[in-house]
Amino acid sequence: MFSYRHAFHAGSHADILKHLTLIHLVEYLQEKPGALTIIDTHAGAGIYSLKDGFAAVSKEAEGGILKLLQFIEAGNPTAQSVKKYLELIQAENVGAELASYPGSPFILARLLRPQDRLKLFELHPKEIDVLRHNVSQLKQEKQIDVYAEDSFARLKGLLPPPSRRGLVLIDPSYEDKQDYRYLEVALEEALQRFATGCYAIWYPMLSRRESAALPDRLKKIVASHQRSWLHTELRVENAPGERRLQASGMFIINPPWTLEKHLAEALPALTKALGINGGAQFLLKSFEA
Ligand code: SAM
Repeated sequence: MFSYRHAFHAGSHADILKHLTLIHLVEYLQEKPGALTIIDTHAGAGIYSLKDGFAAVSKEAEGGILKLLQFIEAGNPTAQSVKKYLELIQAENVGAELASYPGSPFILARLLRPQDRLKLFELHPKEIDVLRHNVSQLKQEKQIDVYAEDSFARLKGLLPPPSRRGLVLIDPSYEDKQDYRYLEVALEEALQRFATGCYAIWYPMLSRRESAALPDRLKKIVASHQRSWLHTELRVENAPGERRLQASGMFIINPPWTLEKHLAEALPALTKALGINGGAQFLLKSFEA
């Protein structure tokens, strides 16, 4: 426990899929003026340097955000949602060179309107201090609550949000394989209290049993609440072994009707930009309750 630091994975292909999807969810939910509550159950540090520290050691951004930027700079066409995502990432940087990569807390904070609120959970004893410091630098600070608590246990207590309009990002590290079970329990409890909320769950595609079984288990939970879902996966490589993460997925409950179209436009560009040795592919499926 607590050996996971998201800085190692900042700007990776998995972050791209997650953050691009997240941005579209927020923008859709903000089409109505009512206040939106956004809960980020696994926040991380908020923003990461790509120039030093863990991210500079792992170099995962080189196969992710930096590769995507090179693809665009080479004149390759891309989707509107990819452009919007890149604009938000670049907005955290001065000048053309990408020195920082914002995590979900910063991406979400920058999208807040005055009436919206953001609730961040982080359990890591070091990461929480960095997160608090980073959030204190944001002009949206007063709209943000930071909790050093176990979000799996606390999520249900925050639901439904006062405005009945909410987005929940669930992005565990899955460092502990119990996370798969905790996630299912927390989601079941959350749906009992707030079935109309939008939930976005990220997961790594690994050969371990719990990971491979997760999408079907999520579909079963959602079916028992008669809600719609969208399931997407992005694989950048198909090589033997799991030395580095080659694929990840997002499972969205109560997705906006516009999300499938956005991802259908973005995913071909992402597979083209990020693919390694012809191993890239994507999945996009949905079910309307
Ligand atoms: N959502 C972040 C982003 O997209 O930038 C990345 C989050 S990272 C995958 C997962 C984080 O969750 C880690 O920083 C870890 O310390 C934290 N964490 C693990 N278990 C937790 C729990 N039960 N409650 C809250 N945070 C937890």
